[in-house]
Amino acid sequence: MNSYDVAIIGSGPGGYVAAIRCAQLGMETAIIEKYPTLGGTCLNVGCIPSKALLDSSHHYEDAVKHFEEHGIEIPGDIKVNLEKMIARKQAVVDQTTGGIDFLMKKNKIDVYQGLGSFKDATHITIKGDETIEIEAKNIIIATGSKPSNLPFINIDKERVITSTEALTLKEIPKHLIVIGGGVIGLELGQVYKRLGAEVTVLEYADRIIPTMDAGLSKELNKVLKKQKFKINASHKVKSVERQGNEVIVKADNKKGVEAEFKGDYCLVSVGRRPYTDGLNAKAAGVKINDRGQVEVNDYLQTSASNIYAIGDVVKGAMLAHKAEEEGVFVAETIAGQKPHIDYNLIPGVVYTWPEVAAVGKTEEELKDAGVDYKTGQFPMRALGRSRASMDLDGFVKILADKKTDEILGVHMVGARAADMIAEAVVAMEYRASAEDISRMSHAHPTFTEAIKEAALAATDDRALHI
Ligand code: FAD
Repeated sequence: MNSYDVAIIGSGPGGYVAAIRCAQLGMETAIIEKYPTLGGTCLNVGCIPSKALLDSSHHYEDAVKHFEEHGIEIPGDIKVNLEKMIARKQAVVDQTTGGIDFLMKKNKIDVYQGLGSFKDATHITIKGDETIEIEAKNIIIATGSKPSNLPFINIDKERVITSTEALTLKEIPKHLIVIGGGVIGLELGQVYKRLGAEVTVLEYADRIIPTMDAGLSKELNKVLKKQKFKINASHKVKSVERQGNEVIVKADNKKGVEAEFKGDYCLVSVGRRPYTDGLNAKAAGVKINDRGQVEVNDYLQTSASNIYAIGDVVKGAMLAHKAEEEGVFVAETIAGQKPHIDYNLIPGVVYTWPEVAAVGKTEEELKDAGVDYKTGQFPMRALGRSRASMDLDGFVKILADKKTDEILGVHMVGARAADMIAEAVVAMEYRASAEDISRMSHAHPTFTEAIKEAALAATDDRALHI
């Protein structure tokens, strides 16, 4: 039987990053994955394919709507070849998952393909083409998550679909009904909206992206409405029925009045649930809580002291970069180091266009906590860079402590916000004040000037270009 210092179950961004860090720290490491390709949800059916389709559909929309204004004339019609678009997405996925194979080899990590289940706290049975058993002193559970559903919805994977099927559709929906106005629903909704579908979003909460700062919700709602999205907040979906190629969704609005929506596809994007099926966690003494998450302490250690859990399968934001941080954290903890994660500084991003990005506390959280804060906000439309590229929507908002000026939260909607948020993370990691940022040179013309201007606005209302 092969024996390891560490065995990792699941090869998503949590698992494969943990494996690399364990190997870097000199541990004999194995990783187990039940699917034929490595990379988990993120690389196969999540972050990477969704961004590939967002980019392709963005190019199409630019060509149809904006090229002419830029003085670019295309003779003849501009058409979408969906099959080719999906094939390009798959090529990006294949290249990326192949990259993980390379990294495993480079770091001398043994890869096992098959379903890993605990025999006891130090032995894992792997059911693949054949059934084998391995032994490990330490084990990391990184089994991730699967799409959740509402109990009355039958996801037939043809017309009533999850994000996974939405990444491989064979035709552009005429009318896509999206249940859930969170990140995944809006990103995939925007892909098909750009390609020509009518898109209706039904959201249970009173606003889209309800976990983010209300100002971001309001701005994104405004922009998506301009893009002709139909957004229905405060709608409680009651039934989803398929009649031939038609999908009929019934929902109550906040006054309890029933509304009916008819489309040809319905994307159910109501969140994700931690995945531990087939793991046999009990045999190892690993507790699963009533939300289906593997229960962990502050060291990400489970109820069995040599077993850790990371990523979507434990509490916290279901994000690839959070899983990666936890992978490194656990590897270093096992190696006897004292790593640290500041969960307040894990940024959240929505890759619609304009993008939405945030880090730290929202205004609602600061109000609830009774923190005395001040706000500096700057609109993207006041930037030369925004006018040059015609990306005028959005703003940057900085929330800072009223007395100390320490930055407590940064929230933005705008072109390239996903990349710009890194500046805010660095600043907050070093506990910068708004004035610190306001006194740093930001290249001109860039979108990042909005961060400097928002910082100027937060410190004595000193914004220069408004
Ligand atoms: P996963 O990536 O889910 O990987 C778990 C792996 O474990 C899977 O490969 C699974 O097959 C394997 N596994 C499970 N059980 C077993 C077992 N018993 N034996 C062997 N193998 C097993 N996050 C972002 O940060 N940015 C984004 O832009 C983003 N976009 C997304 C878009 C979509 C459409 C979706 C669905 C998700 C997106 N996410 C994004 C979320 C991101 O994909 C997850 O947060 C991330 O993949 C979690 O990583 P993980 O390592 O915890 O688990």
